Order: sequence, then structure tokens, then C-alpha cells
Amino acid sequence: MKKLRTIKGTHDILPNEIHKWKELESIVSQTCEQFGYQEIRNPIFEETGLFSRSVGEETDIVTKEMYSWEDVDGTSLTLRPELTASVVRSYIQHNLGTISPIQRFYYSGPLFRRERPQKGRQRQFHQFGVEAFGSNNPEQDVEIIAIAWKILSLCGLANDTTLNLNSIGSKECRNNYRKALKNYIYPYIKDFSKTSQHRFETNPLRILDTKSEKEQEILNDAPKISDYHNETDSTHFESLKEFLKDIDLPFSINHKLVRGLDYYTGTVFEFNSVNLGAQDALLGGGRYNRLVETLGGKPTPGIGFAAGMERFLIAMEQSNFNIKKSNPDIYFICADKKAISRSIEISSRLRSLNFKVVSDTLRRSMKSQLREANKLKVKYALIIGEDEIRNSTIILKNLTKGTQKTIPQSELKNFFEDLTI
Ligand code: AMP
Repeated sequence: MKKLRTIKGTHDILPNEIHKWKELESIVSQTCEQFGYQEIRNPIFEETGLFSRSVGEETDIVTKEMYSWEDVDGTSLTLRPELTASVVRSYIQHNLGTISPIQRFYYSGPLFRRERPQKGRQRQFHQFGVEAFGSNNPEQDVEIIAIAWKILSLCGLANDTTLNLNSIGSKECRNNYRKALKNYIYPYIKDFSKTSQHRFETNPLRILDTKSEKEQEILNDAPKISDYHNETDSTHFESLKEFLKDIDLPFSINHKLVRGLDYYTGTVFEFNSVNLGAQDALLGGGRYNRLVETLGGKPTPGIGFAAGMERFLIAMEQSNFNIKKSNPDIYFICADKKAISRSIEISSRLRSLNFKVVSDTLRRSMKSQLREANKLKVKYALIIGEDEIRNSTIILKNLTKGTQKTIPQSELKNFFEDLTI
């Protein structure tokens, strides 16, 4: 029979690595809540139109990476390839803007894109992110970037990461810049790849994203989008830079940073890691001031970011960030069948004192139970056998020190209550 395996580009997250995920999730939720952001959880599939209308018909995601299917009633559904669109849909659907003119959310969860799998790039991957609706001021931009920076710092990644910053300006700025960029590229168009030639027609700004060195070299002398900023664009961007300096957050301006999705306006940014090779983008985001309106809501400015959790974990490992596993506190060894009911009862009492207690359910020898306790890196073993039942005692073994003593069962509660494991 054919062996059943995970689908290409998807991974099981096994118990031996789950502590890292939990630690990252806890850093994310604590930091976001410190900034007044509330968690939002959206469905994993949505109507396909949500993504094609927001992410953009001509983007890689929509043209070739979505997992879509037709439901029995004929509706086209899609496994979410990103989360901003879902959060915006939710914001509009539940009139969240009427609760307060400023709304701040964070999220984490799985996403699906049919990309070519490689290290740091999967078909099911996980992101955490934040979105803030209502403010078009640069202090909102700096707040979003500061959350990202704080999370990166708490994950030990600040020194290995660069913040790349750009502003792709207003619609008018982008229209003028698009023309200027096309005029510049036109004489060289034969030297560009098929993909870039296609983008020249459909979405010329995306050519700036090219990974080809030859194309990048040509683009080095291309006009810069900042030369096409109007006064509002420049004032906003200048204030943002000042605010970043105020909090000592280092950044570099990258005139070619445009980000892959169509909905961005104004500020865009990416945190890139020196440790990640080709897939070096840890976290990316920007303003999307027209997205709420595009999806049928009242015109509302918005800004957010999303970060790849797998990439965070790879980068944390490479910078030797130490995440402790949480081991059980006590291993309960039952050395005689007659002691089983007593061991169940005592284990249950210890759990109600909040200790993590593991006991053997295989009726193995005492030696193999002790071996298991050591393997689990448990600090204490409790042993109860025939003698201990008869005398109402229990053996308490400190596995780190290798010492042991016999105490009355009645004293066990006091012993563990006084103990900080
Ligand atoms: P995006 O939603 O494309 O702006 O990506 C935001 C972040 O998600 C990136 O910076 C990556 O860290 C992560 N990411 C995007 N695509 C993938 C993928 N296929 N596999 C793993 N991580 C990804």
C-alpha cells in the first residue's frame, strides 16, 4: 500500500518543536496586547473574490498560487493565501469602525500558497500580523513598525535584521512614476526576462522586485519613486523617519521596495534577516488606505504587517536563541499493581496543586519507568510499592541530585506546596 505522507510543501509540527511555536506565539500576543491590539480569528477559507479584488488580479498569488475550488452551490472558494483581506472583510462585515474610530487587531494562523517549496518557503505556512484601521498619521506607521521591532528584539533577532523602508506614495504619484519607469526601462526591455516583460505591461512597479542581477543593475539608474512624491507623501514619510529616529530604530531607505501585493499605498517596509539566505524577508507590511473602500466599506486608512513564523523560528535557531522545553515536574512510578489506585489518587491531587505529573500506564518495570523519567528530564520521581502502601509512605527521589527519602504520604502535600520546582 502507498505510504501516506504530508503533501509537498506542508509539514507536521511535532511535539518536540511545539515549545518554540508556543514561545513565539506568546511573545507575539503579549507584545501586541501591550500596544492595545486585540486578537482576531478569521475562517481559513473565504470567497475567491475577496482575494482577487484585494491582493490584485495580476499578482503571483492570484494568478498561480491560490488553492481554489468550486463549492457544490457553484461558489468559488479559496484557502486564504494571506490575512489582511480577511481582517478587512471582517472589519466591514461587523461594522467594527462604528465601535471606535481606531481599531487595532493582531492574528496568527496558517496560510496556503502553491509556491515552489524550498527552505523558508512552504505551501502551508504560518503568519502572525497586525492591522490598524482609522489613522492616516505617521505615528500610526511608527506604532506598527515598533511592534514588529519589539517582537524581533524579544526573539533575539534585532541585531541580525535590517528594516528596509520606502514610500510608494499616493495614487497620482504611482501613476506618474509608472510612466517614468516604463520610459526608462523601454530601451532595455529585450534584456529583461519574460516575467519582467509581462510585468512591464501589467504591473511595472513589480519589476523593481526582480531577483535577476542583470535586471537589478539596469534598474540601479532608474528614476526613484521618491522623486514623484507629492507634498503630502513627502511630509508623511519625513515624519515617519523622524519618529523612527526618536525611538532609535535603525532603517535603510530602499527605493526599489514595492511589495508584491496591489493594495499598498504610501509607507511600505520589510525586515530582512542576514541569516536566511534567498528567503530573507522575515516580515513585511505597509499602508493600504484604499483597501477598505475597494472591498465595499467606507473609505478608511489602514496599515499592518505580516511575518512568517517558520522563518522566524529558523532565524531564532540560527542566532542560538534558547527556548526552554517545559518538562513534567513529577514522574509517578508505580512499583506494584496494588499501588495503581493509590498512585492515580495522589497524581490527581498533585495535578490540582498545578504540578505536571506523568505516570506509567504500561505497567513496566521500575527500572524502565526510571529510565523514562530521566529521558523526560523530570526533576522528581515518586515511587510507591507494596511496602509503601502498607506503611502509608512514599519514596521521593530527586533525579537531579540522585538523592531519595521515604516520607509519610500525609506529608507529601506540604512538601510539594513549599516547593518551587
Ligand atoms: P507576504 O504576505 O507575501 O507579504 O509575506 C509576509 C511574510 O510571510 C514574509 O516576509 C515571509 O516571512 C512569510 N512568507 C510568505 N510566503 C511564505 C511561504 N510560502 N512560506 C513561508 N513563509 C512565507
